Amino acid sequence: MTVLRLILGDQLSHQIASLRDIHIDTDIVLMAEVGAEVTYVKHHKRKIAFLFAAMRHFADELRRAGTTVIYRHLDDPDNGGSLESEVKQAIAARQISKLVVTMPGEYRLMEIMKSWQSTLGIVVELREDDRFLCSLDKFATWADGRRQLRMDFFYRDMRRDYNILMDGSEPIGGKWNFDSDNRESPKAGMVIPPPLQFAPDDMTSDVLGLVAARCADHFGDLDDFGFAVTRQQALAVLDHFIDQRLPDFGRYQDAMLLDEPWLYHSHIGFYLNAGLLLPAEVIAAAETAYHSGRAPLNSVEGFIRQILGWREFVRGIYWLKMPGYADLNFFEAERDLPEFFWTGNTKMLCMAQAVDATRKYAYAHHIQRLMVLGNFALLAGVAPSQVNAWFLIVYADAYEWVELPNVSGMVLFADGGYLASKPYAAGGAYINRMSNYCRECHYKVSQKNGAAACPFNYLYWDFLIRNRPKLQDNARLGMMYRSLDRMDVEKIAAIRHDADQFLAALPEA
Ligand SMILES: Cc1cc2nc3c(=O)[nH]c(=O)nc-3n(C[C@H](O)[C@H](O)[C@H](O)COP(=O)(O)OP(=O)(O)OC[C@H]3O[C@@H](n4cnc5c(N)ncnc54)[C@H](O)[C@@H]3O)c2cc1C
Ligand code: SF4
Repeated sequence: MTVLRLILGDQLSHQIASLRDIHIDTDIVLMAEVGAEVTYVKHHKRKIAFLFAAMRHFADELRRAGTTVIYRHLDDPDNGGSLESEVKQAIAARQISKLVVTMPGEYRLMEIMKSWQSTLGIVVELREDDRFLCSLDKFATWADGRRQLRMDFFYRDMRRDYNILMDGSEPIGGKWNFDSDNRESPKAGMVIPPPLQFAPDDMTSDVLGLVAARCADHFGDLDDFGFAVTRQQALAVLDHFIDQRLPDFGRYQDAMLLDEPWLYHSHIGFYLNAGLLLPAEVIAAAETAYHSGRAPLNSVEGFIRQILGWREFVRGIYWLKMPGYADLNFFEAERDLPEFFWTGNTKMLCMAQAVDATRKYAYAHHIQRLMVLGNFALLAGVAPSQVNAWFLIVYADAYEWVELPNVSGMVLFADGGYLASKPYAAGGAYINRMSNYCRECHYKVSQKNGAAACPFNYLYWDFLIRNRPKLQDNARLGMMYRSLDRMDVEKIAAIRHDADQFLAALPEA
């Protein structure tokens, strides 16, 4: 009895549920680079190269351990172009009794897989992805009866359940959250450790050639590719982060610096989401660093919160609320995504820096995504479907289960406050406080109105004015609406005028 075990590009974990009970004498693993998954949105070249290179290395590891692997390259003449056609071909060529697959990270693909049992005519076992620390049932139970979900409460329960950074029933240090010690502005002359990069081996070089040829019209650069493509390399990146960056992760978590795309972030999202690292081991490594005195509590707690809290929380929301979540548009925003999201061709230096890093590395850190790119899309009223498509395409760590709640929920408030208690909207002063961009920018951050003024300044107030009926009862925005009420009519007219002019002439911004 031969079981076919399908492994997707983001399931590169030897512990994945679908490999757990494998009989290597009889069972077969199927992995496929398929055009349908690469081009249903035209992913960043670097993201495709990373995933194919990591998939090929993973298949190689399986083979070396004695497993039979069918691996379909993108340019194989018989490549059927979709996962379904690859599964069909594998079944037709062999006596397969059952297909085992771990649930995918995307609702669209999950629906396709659910239909396989009837369309393929064999038993299909769809297993839960238990690399995550909160099962979908557990999340649904936690969310049941709550009108709005708040990450902070979810995170506390997860800390208690997994006994992480706990002192009995109390959080270590007496607080659940140490963000008041974080959020420092960047310092001039900071020496930031460079990220750990790996020169491509022959297998990765082949993939880079393939992607350059087949995806020439996709966004992004392939130059100086240095991502980890094996578990061993990803573990080295994690060690490097714990050693060199984690101690300062908390302090500079929200900082942005000119021409410094990596800062003190961990750069492990690509590896976690593809399966080369597991969340539990990453959290354990950070917690150990705290207990052994190698990193302070504010950094370790802040870092663990991102993984045990935010990462699990957004995934829970995705599966709880799909498919409707993808269509939400609380503000009825309809503007097209400005072209400079692709070209970086804008006089707003903060935006140009974020797009430039994104194009080069398929990476921008959280504050660039949230408070620069996302903030701009929110204030300008860009249609959520277009913002989501962009974020899904351009980042090497982007999969719909994590991208969609971050964009629609956290950034665009498109769910009307189910995920976040208020929109993360901000004017230029925030960006100026957390970065050194503004002093080099064409626009003047200190100026509130007029052609030279920082666009974030008037767009921020214009956003609050435009959306007043939907936001004025939000208690967390009360102070801002009281400030607005104190503005004189001329000031408000100037804000509306500048915003209208700017948005009408976006290509020149
Ligand atoms: C608009 C927007 C879009 C985003 N899209 C994605 C995405 O497609 N894929 C993705 O993995 N993350 C996404 N994030 C979350 C976060 O920005 C990235 O996880 C992070 O920047 C990855 O870089 P890093 O590994 O250096 O993370 P660090 O800053 O070092 O954080 C450590 C880890 O915590 C986790 N994490 C941190 N914040 C979040 C969050 N809000 N949601 C989920 N996990 C989080 C990630 O696994 C990350 O690797 C998005 C955030 C925003 C605001
Ligand atoms: S002045 Fe405004 S547009 Fe320019 S970098 Fe600062 S926040 Fe961005």
